[in-house]
Amino acid sequence: MIPEVSAGGLVVCKHAQSWQVLLMRDMKGNWTFPKGMIESGETPETAAKREIFEEVGVKNLEMIKPLDSIHYKYRRDDLINKTVHYFLFQSLKNVVLKPQIEEGVNSVRWVAFKKALEVVGYAKTNKPLLEKAVGILDLL
Ligand code: ATP
Repeated sequence: MIPEVSAGGLVVCKHAQSWQVLLMRDMKGNWTFPKGMIESGETPETAAKREIFEEVGVKNLEMIKPLDSIHYKYRRDDLINKTVHYFLFQSLKNVVLKPQIEEGVNSVRWVAFKKALEVVGYAKTNKPLLEKAVGILDLL
């Protein structure tokens, strides 16, 4: 089994007193969070920020708190044992989202948390991340 480590973010912004989270549609058509492979010399946080910019065009992120790491397995010739380190980031309001089609990102949206919990893909790993983010944001 081959290990693979990525990093990514739940990017949130406050809109009319309520928090919204950025969801993007991946190559399989599932709504999920931007992420990507950690390159040599990068910390997970630096990699997460770079990937968020590359995949959806958002920069100027402020880290609120690290979230959990998720784990899943998939097959690409060999069986891959994947870990993704996630962080909760705040973005400035009204940033223009730019899905990077060549990175396999077809669309990207700001979504209210209640809606995000309904539509998010990979529920087993992604819903607990959303729930944890809600808990943190409620305290802010
Ligand atoms: P990265 O974005 O880290 O560079 P990638 O685009 O090469 O990675 P993944 O997004 O990990 O690859 O997708 C590999 C497989 O895992 C796909 O079949 C995808 O549908 C599935 N997958 C993606 N995210 C999850 C998840 N959170 N839980 C379970 N399976 C997932």
